[in-house]
Amino acid sequence: MKKLKIAFFGHTSCKGCFFEFLILGEKILDLLKGTDIVHFKMIKEYNEKGPFDITFMDGAISSEKELEKLKEIREQSKFLIALGTCACYGGIPSMANVFKHPEKMVYPEPIDHKSTKVTPIDQHVKVDYYLRGCPINKEELFNVVKDLVNGKIPREKDYCVCVECKLRENRCLFEDGIPCLGPITYAGCNAPCPSVRAPCDGCRGPLPDGNIKEMINLLKKSGVSRGDIKRMFKKYALMDKKFKRVKI
Ligand code: SF4
Ligand code: SF4
Ligand code: SF4
Repeated sequence: MKKLKIAFFGHTSCKGCFFEFLILGEKILDLLKGTDIVHFKMIKEYNEKGPFDITFMDGAISSEKELEKLKEIREQSKFLIALGTCACYGGIPSMANVFKHPEKMVYPEPIDHKSTKVTPIDQHVKVDYYLRGCPINKEELFNVVKDLVNGKIPREKDYCVCVECKLRENRCLFEDGIPCLGPITYAGCNAPCPSVRAPCDGCRGPLPDGNIKEMINLLKKSGVSRGDIKRMFKKYALMDKKFKRVKI
């Protein structure tokens, strides 16, 4: 059987999603039965050029140079996966969009990064699959690659975190007055946060058909201020149209 060529590329991010892949540990050996990791600069000294069968694209786009690279890699990739919330929505790096000169807040000397607005990758190129989460869920990544190796197109979960939370028989945090974004957030993580009594803060991004109006009402009833609701919505998906239109 011909092995699928896999590549990992990164733009603006913390690279935590790469580490999630690496901590798959021995399961990586299982994946390598049907794939070859031909490009992954974090772990390989020699990296091949495209074409690639599966490309994992981590990080948001924050410069012209990154945008050029993204377009080039898209052309070389049969199946392009947005890896993590930075790539899918802009994520934490997109918070820079609300400040005038964010680099000055971080670097003592001016830098020549030629920054642009921080954007998710699908604002520029076609994405074939979204591996959401900050960080991603490594089991989901494993299953997506397995599906592709077996000739199946992986399916994204299009329901909310509450479904997985209920399957784990958790008591809803709202019953104890703790606000949680589970009802409007994409599932796929298996609800790890509410399972340890920590609220979901929406790291997998908003469902297109999530009832934002009702979510705002619920948060207000739990005593969350308008400012905090805005901050909760903007933490990971500031650039998502769904949250941009919202009136709180
Ligand atoms: S999605 Fe989160 S963990 Fe992944 S690279 Fe971005 S900031 Fe890091
Ligand atoms: S705790 Fe959060 S994720 Fe779980 S059911 Fe309640 S709102 Fe949904
Ligand atoms: S429960 Fe919410 S915050 Fe926690 S991993 Fe899942 S989507 Fe992210």
